Amino acid sequence: MPKNFLHIINTYADFKRTPRMTWAQLTQAYPMLEGTTEPTEGKTTVTASVHCECTIAIHMSQKLWGQERPGPKFVEIGISKHSCWLCEKYLEFLMQSSGFDKLRLVVTGYQGKIHSGWMAPPNGPINALCSMACLIRGELDEISENVEREIRSDSFPRDSSGDDEEPKMGAKSENIWDI
Ligand SMILES: [Zn+2]
Repeated sequence: MPKNFLHIINTYADFKRTPRMTWAQLTQAYPMLEGTTEPTEGKTTVTASVHCECTIAIHMSQKLWGQERPGPKFVEIGISKHSCWLCEKYLEFLMQSSGFDKLRLVVTGYQGKIHSGWMAPPNGPINALCSMACLIRGELDEISENVEREIRSDSFPRDSSGDDEEPKMGAKSENIWDI
């Protein structure tokens, strides 16, 4: 996997045939990156693994599968750490998947970060996997849209009285990347 996550964004841009972006453009759209240096080139090895809460969730759902279930089944997953953002979303999608919709998974808490090497359980439902792919695509689209908007707003000088019209970077400016 590339050390510089800009390469991941630009590989996706190539796939969509949209313009690539530079680190400066990304920084301009995401001011929280200001003062940080662009990650170095080269590759890094990432060990992909299924986080334990997802493994337990799939195991429990398979165990409860076929049992008489008059109402929702609450399954508390007791792990020592708070779950990452990808696990949070995966568990949400899992509970929306057919056959798993009676399952109510409860974890210790969420810490909201994205960890490299996150992997979906290979034996989970296909629609939860598709929902994860859609979610990540949507996040990448949002990054490129924010950068494009910022580039456009630079090409057309703003009205001096238009200070209130600063585009808001919204919720996605949260520092959730941990790669
Ligand atoms: Zn996780």
